[in-house]
Parts: sequence; C-alpha cells; structure tokens
Amino acid sequence: MACPTVSRRFLFKLGALLFILVLYVFGAAFYSGLRLWQRPLTFDGDVRRLLNRSTWDVVDVLVAASRLEKTTLTLPACPIISPHLKGPVQVDNVSTPSFESLAAQHPELEAGGLWRPTDCRSRLHVAIIVPYRQREHHLKLFLTHMHPFLQRQQLDYGIYIVDQALPTRFNRAMLMNIGYAEASKQANYSCYIFHDVDLLPEDDRNIYSCPDQPRHMSVAVDKFKYRLIYSTLFGGVTAFKTEHFKLINGFSNIFFGWGGEDDDLRQRVDHHHLSVLRYPMTIARYVMVKHTREKLNAANRQRVEMLRHSKERFDTDGLNSLQYDLLKLEKRPLYTWVYAWIHE
Ligand code: UDP
Ligand code: MN
Repeated sequence: MACPTVSRRFLFKLGALLFILVLYVFGAAFYSGLRLWQRPLTFDGDVRRLLNRSTWDVVDVLVAASRLEKTTLTLPACPIISPHLKGPVQVDNVSTPSFESLAAQHPELEAGGLWRPTDCRSRLHVAIIVPYRQREHHLKLFLTHMHPFLQRQQLDYGIYIVDQALPTRFNRAMLMNIGYAEASKQANYSCYIFHDVDLLPEDDRNIYSCPDQPRHMSVAVDKFKYRLIYSTLFGGVTAFKTEHFKLINGFSNIFFGWGGEDDDLRQRVDHHHLSVLRYPMTIARYVMVKHTREKLNAANRQRVEMLRHSKERFDTDGLNSLQYDLLKLEKRPLYTWVYAWIHE
C-alpha cells in the first residue's frame, strides 16, 4: 500500500506549495497597492475608477494600479515653464475643417478631448468649460486652436462643451455651473477655466492655470481694440481654483439672455474678499470671432435691476440651487459633449 501514502504525501507538498505561492502573489500585489495608495496621487480619477470595480477583481486592480504607478506616477514633474511655448501665435479665424478631419489630426487625444503630457507629470489639472449653442463654426475654430495651445503649455486638461437644448433662452452662467458639475464627476480637477467659444488666445504665455486668486484672462480683445472696456470687467474667459469656485457658490442661475451674469460673478468674488488677477495686456490678448447676437440670447433688459440685488442671492442662487436635465454626456474625440435642458 505504498502508492496511496506517496500520493498523499505528494498531494500535501503540492498543496503547501500552492498555498505559499498564493500567499506570495497576494502579498506582493497587496504591498505594491498599499504603497501606491499611501502616496499622494496625481491621477486619482484613474485609481478611483479602478477601485469602483468588484472586490473580487482585487488582483486585477492591484496589478493595474502598479502599472499605473510605473507609467505615470514615476514621471518627473513638468518644468515650471514649458519648453514648447512660442509666445505670440497666429490665430486662424477663417478655416472650417470637418470634425472628422480635425479628430484625425489629433490621435494623441483621449476620448472626451482629454490630454496630458506623456514625458512629464503635469503640474496642472484643468477643465475648460465652454457654454455653447449652435456655433459650429466657432467650435471648429476653437478646437483647432486650443488643443495645440493647451498642449504646448503641458497641461493635463479636458474640454467640456456644455450645449443648451432649444428652445429656452440662452443662459451662459448656468451652463458654466452645469459644466463644473459634470466635469467634476469625471475627474478631480483643481482648476476650472470658463471660456466663451468665440475667444481665441493670441499668445501661449497666457498660461491656463489657476493661481491663488481668480484670474480674468480675456483682458485685451480685438473687438474692443485690445482695451479693457471697464475696470471690473469679468466676462469672456475666467480661471478659478476649484475651492474658490465652490466658495462663491459658482455663477448665478437666473440670468437668461445676454448680459449681467459676468458682473454678478465679479460681485461674488469681491463679496468673498478674493481679488482678481490679470496677465499683462500684451499677453492676455484674444481674437473674438465675428458674430451677431442670436434671437434666443437677446439682451436681458432686467439685468441692471437684477445686479442691484445680487448680494441677497449669493448664498441661495448658484451651485447649491442648480437644476437641469442632463440629456446626454458623450465623450467625443475632440471634447466631452454635455447636452443639457434648462428650465426657464
Ligand atoms: N453662446 C453660444 N450660442 C448662443 C449664444 C451664446 O454658444 O446662441 C456662447 C458662446 O460661447 C459665446 C458666449 O456664449 O461666446 C457669449 O455670448 P456672445 O458671444 O454672444 O457674447 P459677447 O461676449 O460677444 O457679447
Ligand atoms: Mn462673443
């Protein structure tokens, strides 16, 4: 009866060996995961996505996490000043490529119009929020210009086009709030840049970052002969650290039609004792693509009266009272399309 004894001993050894092997694999995976989670993560959106998966996928998750660690977290930080900047750049405000040909020119983009440098770890994680409705020509010019522009600045960025469904009156400010709300669900952005679709920056030293105070970016616009038309102007393009945008409760939601919402935003900034920074006029230069005013964006005649009472609404009208129906969120090749219905 030697045979069963041998096979029992053999099976016991095999079992022990397998047990040690399993312990080793789990231990190594767990240890590398722990190390990963203990350090500050730049791309925590990615890690969060992994962690949302079923717990049974634990080994998969850890292996993927350690791959993430190797590919992105070990990259050196990008230089403080990007070596790719050109300074003044030519702005093309004429050509009309198709979205398909434009997408073909940008194979480097991740779906949703996302990008980050591959040779260094970006210092800035920026969401560009664009209020939008039926300005296809402007959008093509914007995407043509902005992707190379932002990439030369070595930003980790995403472009969100927030499209208001017809037929309610246009509400630029509310679209900004919606863009903020939806982009913040996609990733943990530290910086939000609220950007009209028809403004194209003329100098890439105009860095799309968020400093310690909000920044008014579109200081000198060709339409206004490159002059600041009034000192508290805060329209066009503005940059906010996430914490500042939350602090001021975002934009007001009640400005339908053209005008007033940017001055209300400025009042919110002042009210919270933040100051407004600007780059020099020589750098913060923009071309505004020519256009007429749309019927559904006629001047809001109540705006002056509304602005007189802005202060009474800061705490109750804004991000904390935002209501909309998200009709679609689509990760298109060149941008994330946020299609929303706003009730008036
Ligand atoms: N906008 C849009 N469709 C409209 C109205 C406005 O996309 O029907 C967006 C677009 O981003 C535009 C911004 O809202 O740049 C501000 O509107 P507009 O350009 O008419 O205002 P301006 O600053 O030129 O007075
Ligand atoms: Mn305009």
